Amino acid sequence: MGDKEKLLEVQNLKKYFPVKGGVLQRTVGNVKAVDDVSFDVFKGETLGIVGESGSGKSTLGRTILRLLDPTEGKILFEGDDISTLSNRKMRPYRKDMQMVFQDPYASLNPRMSVGEIIEEPLIVQKVLSKKDRKDKVVDLLQKVGLPAEARDKYPHEFSGGQRQRIGIARSLTLNPKLIIGDEPVSALDVSVQSQVLNLMEDLQDEFNLTYLFIAHDLSVVKHISDRVGVMYLGKLAEIGPKHHIYNNPLHPYTRALLSAVPIPDVERKREKIKLKGELPSPSNPPTGCPFHTRCPEVHDRCKVELPELVHQGEGQYVACHLYTN
Ligand code: SF4
Repeated sequence: MGDKEKLLEVQNLKKYFPVKGGVLQRTVGNVKAVDDVSFDVFKGETLGIVGESGSGKSTLGRTILRLLDPTEGKILFEGDDISTLSNRKMRPYRKDMQMVFQDPYASLNPRMSVGEIIEEPLIVQKVLSKKDRKDKVVDLLQKVGLPAEARDKYPHEFSGGQRQRIGIARSLTLNPKLIIGDEPVSALDVSVQSQVLNLMEDLQDEFNLTYLFIAHDLSVVKHISDRVGVMYLGKLAEIGPKHHIYNNPLHPYTRALLSAVPIPDVERKREKIKLKGELPSPSNPPTGCPFHTRCPEVHDRCKVELPELVHQGEGQYVACHLYTN
């Protein structure tokens, strides 16, 4: 992505949640949900972030948007350090960074009409007259493929896919630059998933959007992403251009995840790699490489030494001792 402009820079970001114990409820440890993660997001691209539940990917998204305060590290948005800004100082950035949630029903207020839901951010930010706000609501509904009459209905009157369209319309109200999708299609039927993904792609072109698209499954982000990052136990295992990640995955964890994705080409059947054991607890991660307890290629060094994320060429980075000297 050589000459592309950076919209977002995440530098050594950590988000730990204290674990309380004993009668006095003292902090006895930390859940290291996000543990020293660094990457850039370039203007106009879609970066997919993939990982099992418990990998820290959703916490990463929420911390970038400052819905959670980072424990350490930096978040730069268009070069401005927003990692420690107060709520008041964050306000101008909030309109530029929006989130689309997994469960559109839970994220839409059931007592508000669709029109009120989409209009609300405009009222809060005091950016348009009443008439212009109403026009904008109708325009956004049409952009996401819903009729103008939808504004007078309530969320429960819509299907899951339509509700996600409403969530997307609301996220667009303030003309954001970055949208973080936290598993935005995971709760939808497969046939509806591709419609919503196509809609998001069309809107990206029309509104010049940059996406950070979080999913638990490599197949969901394949079509929409330009680059893909794979998270394991709060850390990035691998990140790179989509074609490298899907055609030449280097990290044993990425290879295992990909082996579970069906491929249409019958000549190129992949052998499914079955990982042993469960994802360890992020409050007690393994020493050395966090993946060593399940890795089919583990060797002695992996148990004691944490592998760094190292550039392997053409924008592909991997954290694995198989690729270090
Ligand atoms: Fe597997 Fe070792 Fe690489 Fe970790 S560092 S992924 S344990 S080979």
